[in-house]
Amino acid sequence: MADYYEVLGISRDATQEEVKKAYRKRALQFHPDRNPGDPDAEKKFKEISEAYEVLCDDKKRQTYDRYGKDAFSGAGPSAGYQQGGGAGYASMEEALRTFMGAFGGEPYFEDMFGMRGGEEVGRRQQGASKRITVSISFAEAISGVDKELSLNNFVVCESCGGRRTSSAQGARRCGRCGGAGQVFEQRGFFSMSMTCPQCHGEGQQIVDPCPACQGEGRVKAKRKVHFHVPPGIDTGMRLKLSGYGDIGVGGALPGDLFVYIKVESHEIFERQGNDITLDLPVTMSEATLGCKKEIPSFTHQGHCKISVPEGTQSGKVFRVKGEGFPSLQGGGRGDLLVRIVVETPTELSSRQRQLLEELAKTETAENFPQRKAFSERLKEFQTTH
Ligand SMILES: [Zn+2]
Ligand SMILES: [Zn+2]
Repeated sequence: MADYYEVLGISRDATQEEVKKAYRKRALQFHPDRNPGDPDAEKKFKEISEAYEVLCDDKKRQTYDRYGKDAFSGAGPSAGYQQGGGAGYASMEEALRTFMGAFGGEPYFEDMFGMRGGEEVGRRQQGASKRITVSISFAEAISGVDKELSLNNFVVCESCGGRRTSSAQGARRCGRCGGAGQVFEQRGFFSMSMTCPQCHGEGQQIVDPCPACQGEGRVKAKRKVHFHVPPGIDTGMRLKLSGYGDIGVGGALPGDLFVYIKVESHEIFERQGNDITLDLPVTMSEATLGCKKEIPSFTHQGHCKISVPEGTQSGKVFRVKGEGFPSLQGGGRGDLLVRIVVETPTELSSRQRQLLEELAKTETAENFPQRKAFSERLKEFQTTH
C-alpha cells in the first residue's frame, strides 16, 4: 500500500490543517454515498481514511515518520496502534467512523450529504430555529434602531438542569446502541452508521422523567431579546440571532432566531436602493421664475434646501448628495433625488384667467424650445410622407 502522505497527496511537512483539508477533498470524492457499489472507490475511501487517522494524530504521525507502516502492524514499538492498522481498514465501518470523527460535528457537514448527514452523526437534535418579522419605520431604517422582542421559547428545565430526570437512576444507558447513539447497518456492500432508533441518538433512555418538563429537559418560558437593527437595512433582509431559537430536547444546542425586517413605507419619500426619491410639486410660476424650497431630510437638522432655477421643466431631477440611506456595507450614503412636478393651476379666478390670456398673447416660439423643436420635426414628417 502506498505511503500515507502520497495517499493524501500532501508533503511530509504538511500542517494538521492541510492534512484535514486533503482528507476532506478526497473523502468527498470517494465517499460511498457518492459512489454506491463501486469497489474501487470503497478501497480508496478506506485507504485515505486510514492515512488520515494516522497523520491527524501527532503521536501516530511521529511513529509513522520514524518507523513506517510496520509500526502499526503489531510488531513495532507501538503495537497499541493496531486499529490504524498497516494491514488497512478491514471494514467500511472503521473508515466511516474516522470520517464522522473528522467532519461529523462541523456545521457544513449537512451540506455535504444533505440533511441525512446530520442525523447520521448521532448527536442530539439541535433545537428549532424560528423566524419572526419585525416592522421598522422608514426613519429607523435610515438611522438604525435598537429593538426588543418578547419570545416564548423552550429553555433548559431548571428542575433537572436539562438532564430530563432528577433522580440518579432515572437515565439508563440505551441497550440497543450501548450509549453510542448510533448503530451500524448493512446497506448493500457498505455498513453505514445510523442514528439509534431506540434512543434517537441520545445514548440513554429516561425511565424516571422529570415531572417539571415531562422528561424533555426543557420548558417554555418568556424571554426578552435586545438587538440592533443596523442603519441602511431594507425590507426582506434578515438578522440572525444565534442561539435565540428553542433549545433542543435534553438541553441540546438551541436553534437560531431569524428576524426578517419590514420597512414601513413613508408618506412622501420612496426608497430606491440606497437613494431616496421625492416628488416635489411646484407651481407653474415657481418653475418659470425659479424658487427656493425647503424639504424634509433625515440628516441635516431635519431639512435641507434646494433651489429650483428659472425655467425648470416638469420631471427634472435634482440630486442632493449624501441625503439617502447609509450603505450597509459601510462607507458612503445614497442620495436624495428630488423630482420636480409642475402643477398646472386649476380653479382660476377671472383675474387670473385674464392675466394668463394676456401672457399667452405675448408668448413666442423662443419661450417654448421643446414645442418649437417638435413642430419642426412634425413639419419634416409631413413633407416626407
Ligand atoms: Zn426537567
Ligand atoms: Zn440507542
